[in-house]
Amino acid sequence: MYISQLYSNKHLVLSFEIFPPKKNFPINKLVNQLETFSKLKPDYMSVTYGAGGSTRDRTIEIAGLIKENFGIEPLAHLTCISSTKDQIHRIVQDLENHNIQNVLALRGDLPTDPNFVFPTPLHFEFASDLIQFLKSEGKFCIGAAFYPEGHIEAPNQETDFRNVAYKVKQGTDFLISQMFFDNAFLLDSIQKLHILGVNLPFSAGIMPVTNIKQVKRIASLCGATFPPSLLQELSKRQDDPQMVEEFGINYAVKQIRALIQAGIDGIHIYTMNKPHIAQKIIEKIHDLI
Ligand SMILES: Cc1cc2nc3c(=O)[nH]c(=O)nc-3n(C[C@H](O)[C@H](O)[C@H](O)COP(=O)(O)OP(=O)(O)OC[C@H]3O[C@@H](n4cnc5c(N)ncnc54)[C@H](O)[C@@H]3O)c2cc1C
Repeated sequence: MYISQLYSNKHLVLSFEIFPPKKNFPINKLVNQLETFSKLKPDYMSVTYGAGGSTRDRTIEIAGLIKENFGIEPLAHLTCISSTKDQIHRIVQDLENHNIQNVLALRGDLPTDPNFVFPTPLHFEFASDLIQFLKSEGKFCIGAAFYPEGHIEAPNQETDFRNVAYKVKQGTDFLISQMFFDNAFLLDSIQKLHILGVNLPFSAGIMPVTNIKQVKRIASLCGATFPPSLLQELSKRQDDPQMVEEFGINYAVKQIRALIQAGIDGIHIYTMNKPHIAQKIIEKIHDLI
């Protein structure tokens, strides 16, 4: 099923993001995690591609598992900056072989290895190039990313939002946001994108803070503002991981409840592969979904 159909049919679309674990992670443990996630009844589950050190070659396999074993629609992430058209063409065939119909089309972060050799000339410079390619290659429903505070490399927010509008024109069906810790950023960005003619379903990407160091590092890498008040509250609890987790979950729940009340199309939870966190969040928003 195309994920765009879910957005058309439901007042709120709930999705979970997971990353493929390292190769030596036991498969039965992964299947158990997926089972717990599936019991929470997300509308779809996305699987990252090489993000945060996870292995790329398991994205499609795990997306296939989500669909086959648990009957949940998968969204396979795919990045393009370091790939050739031939490589992406082979991935498209693999996606089709696994009956995966939904792709989150991304440029990907620029490789930090100074010895990394890019295809010359670049076959894909931006996510919009990948979106055009996927549209010409197969019948995919395509998601893309947006950044409520603007993408970290963009000269300014307006330029970045124009680039989002461009990738939407190339064939994007829905958008998922980067993490943000102040709903005002998200709601403001959607308003600005509407003005630029972007009228698609928007899912808000919610990152529950359960590990202060880890989330601060990720937030700084992607340019998301970490509000001083949030940091202060977390710091007060820093010696007690249980209290940090509880506060992080309640903060995420507060964000989600306010966004649902503001009429958001979808909530996308960055689960960090921790089913119990997703479970606690769902319990606390159950009356709204
Ligand atoms: C929901 C979500 C999921 C993600 N999943 C993954 C993942 O699985 N694996 C992974 O490696 N990374 C992932 N990322 C991170 C993402 O790859 C990085 O943020 C990357 O730096 C940008 O990718 P993009 O697709 O947004 O790029 P683009 O949309 O191509 O934008 C990248 C930059 O180029 C600029 N730009 C875009 N088009 C043009 C143009 N035509 N002319 C000039 N400038 C332009 C934009 O303003 C921006 O600054 C994810 C991000 C999000 C929000």
